Amino acid sequence: MKYQELVEVYQDLEKNSSKIKKTEIIANLMKKTSDDELQKVVLLIQGIVFPKFYGYELGIAIQMMIKAIAKSTGHEIKRVEDEFKKLGDLGVVVEKLTEEKKQSVLVKKELDISAVFKNLQELAYIEGVGTQDKKLNLISELLSFAKPKEAKYIVRTILGDLRVGVAEGIIRDAIAKAFLEDDKESKDAVDYALNIYPDFGEVALIAKSKGIEGLKKIKIKIGQPIQVMLGEKAESIEEIIKNFGKIAAEFKYDGMRAQIHKDGDKIWIYTRRLENVTKQFPDLVKLCKDNIKVKRCVLEGEVVGVDKNYQPLPFQILSQRIQRKYDIEKMVEEIPIQINFFDIVLYEDEQLLDKNLLERRKYLEKAIKQIPNRFVLAKQIITDKVNELKKFYKESLNAKQEGLFLKVIESKYVFGRKVGGWYKLKPTMETLDLAIIGATWGTGKRAGWMGSFILGCKDEKTGKFLECGMLGTGVKEKKTAETDITFKELTEILKPLIISEDASQIKIKPKVVISVDYQEIQKSPNYDSGFALRFPRFISLREDKGIDDVDTIERIKYLYNMQKKSK
Ligand code: AMP
Repeated sequence: MKYQELVEVYQDLEKNSSKIKKTEIIANLMKKTSDDELQKVVLLIQGIVFPKFYGYELGIAIQMMIKAIAKSTGHEIKRVEDEFKKLGDLGVVVEKLTEEKKQSVLVKKELDISAVFKNLQELAYIEGVGTQDKKLNLISELLSFAKPKEAKYIVRTILGDLRVGVAEGIIRDAIAKAFLEDDKESKDAVDYALNIYPDFGEVALIAKSKGIEGLKKIKIKIGQPIQVMLGEKAESIEEIIKNFGKIAAEFKYDGMRAQIHKDGDKIWIYTRRLENVTKQFPDLVKLCKDNIKVKRCVLEGEVVGVDKNYQPLPFQILSQRIQRKYDIEKMVEEIPIQINFFDIVLYEDEQLLDKNLLERRKYLEKAIKQIPNRFVLAKQIITDKVNELKKFYKESLNAKQEGLFLKVIESKYVFGRKVGGWYKLKPTMETLDLAIIGATWGTGKRAGWMGSFILGCKDEKTGKFLECGMLGTGVKEKKTAETDITFKELTEILKPLIISEDASQIKIKPKVVISVDYQEIQKSPNYDSGFALRFPRFISLREDKGIDDVDTIERIKYLYNMQKKSK
């Protein structure tokens, strides 16, 4: 298929904002795509070239893209930068500059999807000496063959910002519409498959070749992560007991969720966002090899950082290990870990999703050899007594954990958050997880760095992020402890995500999630959420969380009302 055909689809998607229309456009595209190209098309339509859990990054920052555009269009870097300031989107910039060049230069080669796809994947594989130059050459060469509109979408894809409004739910519905019936059973089957096998291209191909029965038969594949089960917020212990009677309460540990896959001697560790962090945790790999008693399994637990006496450390300290690419052995020494297992979904070849909580716990007990303080089952009590639960809740908080998970005994393992079955209980004046959606450049001591950060909560109805505060406290000018984040470091993380900037404000693509403390929530006409956090303070970078985990405007409203009540 010609890349030009895909470009026409992108344009159609940009023009049509209705979900139904978008689904139809993508379903039509999938229907006319050959088996060979289907996986590529399904990824490209989402603006990616690897399933997300592969963890490959194309690693192209805005500044490098500006250079590549300058090179391919024959303009000065300054000109590209000026256009970017004016237009705020490098896709539109490259389109304009390629258009200008069109008259003067050679005939274009016809780009086809497979060639574009292969070149984009190549960007992730380049490493070693001269990486930056090689990437720059590859991009500018690809762009020099592209027509203006093609260049626009290539640039946006490379920057991870396609902007055609295709959420994962639309792709799911489009797969059903293209290859199955357009009904709930089909959508559910695609959904199930994607949860167990979060590779949209592969699932589309199975839907096409094996239909609904093929999708239903998909089983957990060891080594490939599945979507995790999450919990809703419980309003009180009393309410849960009233609704469910006897429940299983577990400590809600303050750490990193780990989904561990084992096949013989091979171990994989994934985070809740399905990122592969096996290399960062050789100590956990060893513990698993030595103490998991079954040959094949998929387990889940919470990894907590501990000190030399096995006392838990705050998440900020453990978080240094999650994205670490160097000095890993040193980190293993400095920040030892403990894992608290709370679930199992595969035991040898038996898939356990449909077993209830207590049955799964029995399998878990059989699967591991516990090592006190290091490799243990999550603390659990089973009761319908409010007093006992309150005591257990206090015990968890005293042990510096987050609170409790109240789990319905009959609950099966179901993917996602609003599924019922698991309820989390945390103190009300809790920290919030928010996205950084904007910033301003600092002055004085903070000159050259971003000096304050605009926080965004999520509006679940529209999927948009709403401003709810401005943060400058808690981020450090100088590093005095390993866990400190400096303005310089945060600026470097955010720079590649700049969408546009004017004299007063930088707009940032929501991607970076941080935990924030605050004194109070106030109503405020200055922010589009209608609320402002008073004295927000940076607690930690949540590299383990994605924008789907950001707290919602509903949560902020709820906390605001609770605060009013308690005044
Ligand atoms: P939250 O991030 O507040 O939505 O809470 C969900 C997270 O709590 C999960 O992804 C786990 O990482 C963590 N967690 C800690 N203890 C448990 C537990 N006993 N059961 C399930 N999840 C837990």
